[in-house]
Amino acid sequence: MEGRATSWISRARSAGRWTLDALLPPRCLACGLVVDDPGTLCASCWDKAGFIAPPHCRRCGLPFDLADAAAGLECASCVADRPAFDRARAAMRYGDGARALVLRFKHADATHAAPGVARWMARAGAELLADCDLIAPVPLHRWRLLWRRYNQSALLALELGRIAGRPVVADLLLRRRATPSQGRLDRARRRANVASAFAVRPRHLPGLKDRRVLLVDDVMTTGATVDECARTLKRAGAASVDVLTLARVAREL
Ligand SMILES: [Zn+2]
Ligand SMILES: [Zn+2]
Repeated sequence: MEGRATSWISRARSAGRWTLDALLPPRCLACGLVVDDPGTLCASCWDKAGFIAPPHCRRCGLPFDLADAAAGLECASCVADRPAFDRARAAMRYGDGARALVLRFKHADATHAAPGVARWMARAGAELLADCDLIAPVPLHRWRLLWRRYNQSALLALELGRIAGRPVVADLLLRRRATPSQGRLDRARRRANVASAFAVRPRHLPGLKDRRVLLVDDVMTTGATVDECARTLKRAGAASVDVLTLARVAREL
């Protein structure tokens, strides 16, 4: 299961960690301020982070206002149009705090920040991690992968696999084409935009049958990407597909 990408990422990660740990004081994962412990946020970023706590939609994880609070509820959007994934959870709302963290994670400190970020995700997705047979990242298209040098979702998947003791299949899915940004499209167009954008890598097909998959990504914005990944995995025989992200927009998908 350990593909070339995986070993390359772990090498890059240990090299990065060694250098940073040896030479630099620990810094806030979002703003870079010097802090006491590695893998944490400073007090001000902690306040802005917007960690998600129950109650939330039991399917997509949308945080509910306390007024709506009732166990086992689904949001209107999940009732109207059930997503292909079974459950989605996120550690934070995608607001100013999470945006700073995600940007930094994407473009600078990814290897250094991954363990801290993954711990918050593991807390938010404890049930999902306990239930899954394998963990896989949402793939980047190749040109994006080269540009960013590594897939941050794969880094998070590897950390989560280590925390939960589950196998990580870093190249389970492949992206057949780049998908244009879909923030401004309506739901039907977003779905069309990502239709058939993903495929299961043929050599992983036999190992996928009847398995419970946990998909990992950094941010869930419209939900269309993870929804299409889940549809692809289920068509290929996965028993269930859950989704765990660092952050999600706090409105209906
Ligand atoms: Zn900070
Ligand atoms: Zn929902």
